[in-house]
Amino acid sequence: MNIHEYQAKDILRAAGVPIPPGEIAHTAEEAEAIATKIGGMVVVKAQVHAGGRGKAGGVKLAKTPAEAKEIASKILGMQIKGLTVYTVLVTAAADIASEAYVGIILDRATKKPVFMVSPAGGIDIEEVAASTPEKILKLPVDTRYGLQPYQASELGFFLFDDVKKVRAASKIMMALYDTFMKNGCSLAEINPLVVTPAGEVVALDAKMSIDDNELDRHPELAALRDETAEEHSEVEARNANLTFIKLDGDVGCVVNGAGLAMATMDLVKYYGGSPANFLDIGGSSNPEKVVNALKIITEDPSVKVILFNIFGGITRTDDVANGIVTATKANPLKIPIVIRLTGTNEEIAMKILTENGFTASSDMDEAVMKAVELAKGGKAA
Ligand code: GDP
Ligand code: MN
Repeated sequence: MNIHEYQAKDILRAAGVPIPPGEIAHTAEEAEAIATKIGGMVVVKAQVHAGGRGKAGGVKLAKTPAEAKEIASKILGMQIKGLTVYTVLVTAAADIASEAYVGIILDRATKKPVFMVSPAGGIDIEEVAASTPEKILKLPVDTRYGLQPYQASELGFFLFDDVKKVRAASKIMMALYDTFMKNGCSLAEINPLVVTPAGEVVALDAKMSIDDNELDRHPELAALRDETAEEHSEVEARNANLTFIKLDGDVGCVVNGAGLAMATMDLVKYYGGSPANFLDIGGSSNPEKVVNALKIITEDPSVKVILFNIFGGITRTDDVANGIVTATKANPLKIPIVIRLTGTNEEIAMKILTENGFTASSDMDEAVMKAVELAKGGKAA
């Protein structure tokens, strides 16, 4: 789960990272009032889960409260990378002498949190990595011992020469690592970490992603979820207890179990198609889940065919068949459906489906081939 910049800043500020004061606004008038309260120059910043807001026109300096109001009225409602801006952060502006990058990601290869720091901050770190990789220092942390002060200094010295700044940066590294570990982050990033002309080291942007599996033990973080900032179908699926990820293709897949879902997507690709989603209805036998799954998939206009691939173990395939019949009676399908069922109560399931005008097979290759062909507009074999 991603959280907004202002939420990440609140967490980092509480951990001791120097961050200019700010508040959020949902209207231009609120933005003006906050700017008045802060006094002096402010920055108005779009709160959407996307990087590169600066380049997209979602981060603007304002000299007066009136200007903050005008800028906020332009940024609110704006689209950035397909996301609508409903909230802006109005924060005290800092003068910038230099910009650095500081981030931690969970690296699955080394199974460790890895620091990445660069004195070339402000811009995309991917760009720095591609053109001048020598400007990035990577440092894996052994979680048994945590980030050691000497490592924090090493990171600080990679960014700055001046010892005072190195100390300030090291303190920020320790706080960032602590925050990353305490909150079950998969990513925590400060870009830019700036030095002001007065020599202060300050974080001007913050990004945090929380591992979804941590949310049960962190209700305070789960409460930060902003559904308006998320893919609509993914929100709906989560609320229906389905595991769903939207993809770019046109074969809508309904599968039980993550392993079978992966195998199905592989097979769709193998036969020249492209999956529209990853949807796992799980191991239970709840026809309601099938109804919800079909609803979510058919709302996506890019889906040209629906492919059911169910292996009945604990899941009873007759329950799935009943789910398909119920769902399609309530909302008749406008696109073809290909069903593959095998396992528990397979004969009963086939009977239910045939009686209701569906065809189904128990062969996975055959079903996937057929679905791919239908998605391409061809006649099914
Ligand atoms: P991003 O583009 O989504 O990463 O948004 P950022 O918060 O990083 O802002 C983009 C850029 O705007 C930064 O790299 C800075 O150059 C600039 N910026 C952000 N806050 C301030 C500020 O307080 N003062 C000044 N002068 N520039 C700022
Ligand atoms: Mn940034």
